[in-house]
Amino acid sequence: MRKILAAALLTIGLLAGCTSLRDARGPSEICEVHHAFMRSVELPGPKAGVQLPPEYIETGIKTFPHAMPDYLPDSRHRVMLFICDDCVRAQRVWKLQHPGAVP
Ligand SMILES: [Zn+2]
Repeated sequence: MRKILAAALLTIGLLAGCTSLRDARGPSEICEVHHAFMRSVELPGPKAGVQLPPEYIETGIKTFPHAMPDYLPDSRHRVMLFICDDCVRAQRVWKLQHPGAVP
């Protein structure tokens, strides 16, 4: 009976895939820079990091900490994040002002 149960659980696990969901939203749903409510989004998890310029990282921490993440997506993992629309706009402006700086 245990073998049948173990086989059934294994089959269900294989059919459901091995996708995992990690909640990385943090403790507050209010952006500490823009003082605005953020929206919760579910995105593919990181496959690998992208080499980002230090000035982009420093500016991002100070002015758009809750913008869209920069990484190669991995379809096997999902991540939940808070995204601030004002941070996304600030990130977009920075990238427009520094063409080619971020891959
Ligand atoms: Zn923000």
